[in-house]
Amino acid sequence: MKKDRPYNFLTLRFVDKALEDAYREDDFFKGLKKHRTVCLETIFLYSIFGILDWAILPEQKEICWIIRFCFVCPLLLWSYFFSFTKSYRKFRTANTFVVGLSISVGIIAMIAIAPSPGDYLYYAGLLLCSMFFYGRIPEHFISNCLAWGTFALYVIVALSFTTPPGKVLFSNTFIYFFFNVLGMLVCYSLELSRRLDYLQRFTIERQAAELKEALGKMEKERQRAEELSLQDPLTGLANRRRFFEEADREYERTLRYGRSLSIMLLDIDHFKSVNDTFGHAVGDRVLQRVSGIIAGTIRKSDLACRYGGEEFAVLLPEADPQTAQKLGERMLRSIKQSKIILGNEQVFISASMGIAGFSEAEDVPPHILLERADKILYQAKNSGRDRLCLWGDPADKVDPAGRLLPVGSGNMS
Ligand code: GH3
Ligand code: MG
Ligand code: MG
Repeated sequence: MKKDRPYNFLTLRFVDKALEDAYREDDFFKGLKKHRTVCLETIFLYSIFGILDWAILPEQKEICWIIRFCFVCPLLLWSYFFSFTKSYRKFRTANTFVVGLSISVGIIAMIAIAPSPGDYLYYAGLLLCSMFFYGRIPEHFISNCLAWGTFALYVIVALSFTTPPGKVLFSNTFIYFFFNVLGMLVCYSLELSRRLDYLQRFTIERQAAELKEALGKMEKERQRAEELSLQDPLTGLANRRRFFEEADREYERTLRYGRSLSIMLLDIDHFKSVNDTFGHAVGDRVLQRVSGIIAGTIRKSDLACRYGGEEFAVLLPEADPQTAQKLGERMLRSIKQSKIILGNEQVFISASMGIAGFSEAEDVPPHILLERADKILYQAKNSGRDRLCLWGDPADKVDPAGRLLPVGSGNMS
């Protein structure tokens, strides 16, 4: 069965275009460093071998030095600096070809000039050159073009310009040829292993990114689910569960720091008749409007919750009952003044409120505060609605006969 390769067998390019592009991008930056090192290494070697010209070709040394120092080395230096420019990226392949060819053509020119037996040593320089091509150029296609092109040029020049003994030429060509074959295989497997390495890294990174994204989504969903489990769906306010959790937390904090804590209970007056007159949908809108007013009146550190059908509770940390009373009065006023328009009609609403709290050095657990707020709310209802009653206010008392004594309570009308 044919195995599906992620790359082309000959060119080694990845089948996946995005992967190939990513590899090239990565390879470009790695190759950039390599290219600069190669330029400097070659300038060094080319200059050092100038000594060889002086020792082996004393008569032709000037022309060899011209080739080395006026042609090849300046070109390498230029290529080194060119790699720092923006255009380098576009002309990278062309640049590699030009520089590679100039290195080998320089040596071949010296071979053409050198009478035997000097050419054997320059021939060794060509092998070094191929070694560079195979070992230092990241793309095996370019390495091969340069190495085999140099090989062909050498054979032509050796046959046309030099007069080595036939055996020497044959052995040189033979060795050079197999040197290139070996280099070709080595550089192919080097590039393949680099690419497979990258593929592995790319796959791991992609999987890690996908995993991170999935985890992020899950975390968001978890947070959302948690929010929903603590929220009233109609009004968006906290639900009872959250309210009690927060109330317990705040109570502990209040005791620890010796602060105040108040709770208000608010109930819309005659809400049933709103539903009966205008329908349940309008009733829902009224509930949303009242929630909006409550949320808009309190501080960020306070917590409003839909306590029941048309009943709301507000937790007021660091607020003593008198502060809570002022806030409550403002809230009831806003509710009364709110305009809910339905066609040509306006729905008028009001609410009643009971507040219970404690100041520094006192200690009343939240469930007791709620009980008290509920009792005092009941009193606000019984004393005519549209008002606020405060627990502990001597004026807010129901007499044994059930007669209502609303003195001291804030009537909002
Ligand atoms: P009071 O002034 O004594 O508080 O009278 P009320 O009519 O407001 O109180 P009651 O307890 O008699 O009626 C509450 C109504 O609230 C009855 C119920 O149908 C309505 N209600 C409860 N939850 C919802 C809701 O989610 N949407 C709507 N539209 N109505 C609701
Ligand atoms: Mg009501
Ligand atoms: Mg009610």
